[in-house]
Amino acid sequence: MPAKRDYYEILGVAKGASQDEIKKAYRKLAVQYHPDKNPNDKSAEDKFKELSEAYDVLSDEQKRAAYDRYGHAAFASGMPGGAGGGGFHDPFDIFREVFGGGGGGGDIFESFFGGAGGGRRGRQGNEAQRGSDLRYGLEISLEEAARGAERELEFEKLASCGKCKGSGSASGGGTKSCRTCGGAGQVISSRGFFQIQQNCPDCMGSGQTISDPCKDCRGIGRLKDRSRIRLKIPAGIEEGSRLRSSGNGDAGARGGPTGDLYVVIQIKPHDVFERDGHDLHCTVPLSYPIATLSGELPVPTLEGRANVKVPAGTQNGAVFRLRGQGLKHLDGDRKGDLYVHVQIAVPTKLTTEQKEALQEFAKTLGEHQSPLQETFFEKAKRFFT
Ligand SMILES: [Zn+2]
Ligand SMILES: [Zn+2]
Repeated sequence: MPAKRDYYEILGVAKGASQDEIKKAYRKLAVQYHPDKNPNDKSAEDKFKELSEAYDVLSDEQKRAAYDRYGHAAFASGMPGGAGGGGFHDPFDIFREVFGGGGGGGDIFESFFGGAGGGRRGRQGNEAQRGSDLRYGLEISLEEAARGAERELEFEKLASCGKCKGSGSASGGGTKSCRTCGGAGQVISSRGFFQIQQNCPDCMGSGQTISDPCKDCRGIGRLKDRSRIRLKIPAGIEEGSRLRSSGNGDAGARGGPTGDLYVVIQIKPHDVFERDGHDLHCTVPLSYPIATLSGELPVPTLEGRANVKVPAGTQNGAVFRLRGQGLKHLDGDRKGDLYVHVQIAVPTKLTTEQKEALQEFAKTLGEHQSPLQETFFEKAKRFFT
């Protein structure tokens, strides 16, 4: 695996950059490397992923603080305490992210590296385990992305147990510091030259044992729960955008703070329109007589339809721009444009009469009826003499 680049370096910002600077840098680069703008470009795709990852961490003060202290190690999976983290899948496509920790994992940065004050955090520290962040993949239509939408999401999360108020103890007072680890939740074992710190096998990293476990949650303090939220999707949202719903992730363990819910937007491919940033493109067939003689061409728009005035002599592939018929910019009222690409429709089913009429027409054609033919035959003269 190649070495991971520094997150600040990826975004091109200074270590002390403000959230505003980070957001601006991310937006600029995200536009540059967006997969829609770089189809089939693996390196752009990798850059885009790297960028999203860097932004995800630096835009979150808690994750950023952990990264500032411990670098990439703060988010490495497979670390003690991270075990309950990744890999959780349910039918709603939510998974626990590696940060924040899952069951028993908790605040891996603090417990693994020795805590904020340099000293090991014991029971108190483990009492404040933050709940996991959740991710919800939401697919919306291009129309919804254009106009904005409101959706109700239903998902499963860990909620604080109502019966024991999250303590895990039936009486509320049956929680004791774990003897094996002295309440630290971690034990040290030797493996060759290395000393390895691991979750305590007796308390599973919580630092506590419960003498009278709550019957509802079996001493865990949290229970699976169905949750519903209403989500507002802003008009002009882009593919891959993340919307954060603060405090709608898993409940923290032992009364710790709740994690966040991240909704990642995916936009379904559209039958007619292709999106390019704020602009839209579509291809519309144009009859040969109208292309030749001029006329009106009805075209689809996100709002319904519009008419394009096609001038006489319009060639195949000509592009007409409809100003302001694209998507709204997220910040402000500016709108992108709609580009209509015309494709001359060659008739395939002709009646005998129509064929004869066309043959009559062909006879009347001289050699150079179109500027296209003139330039071509001028350039390709030598092939035809
Ligand atoms: Zn309980
Ligand atoms: Zn223990």
